[in-house]
Amino acid sequence: MKESTLMKKTILFLCFYYTLFTYSQQDFKIYDIINKISSERIKNDITTLANFGTRNTFSDTISKTRGIGAARRWIKSEFESISKECKNCLNVFYQKDYVTTNDGERIPKDTWIVNVVAIQKGTKYPNRFIIMSGDIDSRNSDTMDFTADAPGANDNASGMAGTIEAARVLSKYQFENSIIYLGLSGEEQGLFGGKGFANYAKDKDWEIIGILNNDMIGNIEGVDGVIDNRTFRIFSEPTPANETEKERNMRRFYGGEVDGISRQLARYIERITKIYMPEMNPMMIYRLDRFGRGGHHRPFNDLGFPGVRIMEAHENYNRQHQNIREENGVKYGDVLEGVNFEYAKKLTTVNAINLASLAWAPPAPKNVLIGGIVKPNVKLKWDKNEDESILGYKIYWRLTTSPQWEFSRFVGLVNSFELDGIVIDNYYFGVATVGKNGHESPVVFPNDIIRDTFRKR
Ligand SMILES: [Zn+2]
Repeated sequence: MKESTLMKKTILFLCFYYTLFTYSQQDFKIYDIINKISSERIKNDITTLANFGTRNTFSDTISKTRGIGAARRWIKSEFESISKECKNCLNVFYQKDYVTTNDGERIPKDTWIVNVVAIQKGTKYPNRFIIMSGDIDSRNSDTMDFTADAPGANDNASGMAGTIEAARVLSKYQFENSIIYLGLSGEEQGLFGGKGFANYAKDKDWEIIGILNNDMIGNIEGVDGVIDNRTFRIFSEPTPANETEKERNMRRFYGGEVDGISRQLARYIERITKIYMPEMNPMMIYRLDRFGRGGHHRPFNDLGFPGVRIMEAHENYNRQHQNIREENGVKYGDVLEGVNFEYAKKLTTVNAINLASLAWAPPAPKNVLIGGIVKPNVKLKWDKNEDESILGYKIYWRLTTSPQWEFSRFVGLVNSFELDGIVIDNYYFGVATVGKNGHESPVVFPNDIIRDTFRKR
């Protein structure tokens, strides 16, 4: 082959892959991650956690084999051995806050709420964090009972084991943004661990890309007998709880009732899952959490951080918050038999690929503005980031009744763009940053109006 032909072929080949990569938005490394998550290791970890007997927040902290103390020391030592395998790539520590009986009705005695934290530092943006969390603690029928058995195999050893497994697999890669693998405590008595860590992050002035809180990711058999090992739920609140009165007012005239930062995170997870794991059925639930019930993403949402709850689609209430017993032929209790480890693996994988995508993605655009009143075109404007890893920006839009972004256009490395023939009134719009590595930030919904078009009304 002549050298010029070889050159041409090489260029064609590279163009092909560049095109494939840029337009299909598929990164082969993500498939690599999918292949590495192990249901066997998740099973072992859930078993270990359930075997601590009870992990009630107020249970024994001295014993080596029983209670929350033994459980958290084991979780910490797991993170530490994962870290050893990656040349100390994880910073592992306890973060704790003291609660007293005055802090809530479900606190039987004063105690330390101890979270276990493992941070994989980002190479480029160490102060931008994406978090995966599970809970350390468990409960039985009486949340104040801190001595009797409460194995909490599904609630929430499954979420904790998934978080440890994600750390095992992702610690073999390097990411631009930091990842936090987080074990939270005090969930069952008032979301104390989440509250403590969200405040810790806020005090440190960390930029939180989002928290993926996993709470019960292993049950496939609903209390009504439905069996489903592919569907899972992503809960997200519509708009931030701490928004200002001005923001609330703006929404009345410019829209955004279902476009808060947590909802954008939920859409991101749904989209990435459908690209890389098309066999799964992600179900976005347009609410903070289940009806009248709570989870550890909420304290993060309370402070204005994006966060979602990831969980099974069909709950089995006989297996949650129940003393182990049999009544009229019905078995109660959150025991290992109620956990499907292959399903827990699938949901762990959903987390891992989304953590990776977000940790590889460039920062989302800032100050996204929109205009186009009484015009046939819509205009979007944002701050252009000069970071050399950015390929450009992508405008997304959808019909006002659509749950997910439907249309998109990559518009290059610019700080504004006008979409011809698209009328502002009929769609919702947003902008995402696209990295040269193909990974995208979550979509940012405009937070203000381009004033010049506004005045010409
Ligand atoms: Zn629970």
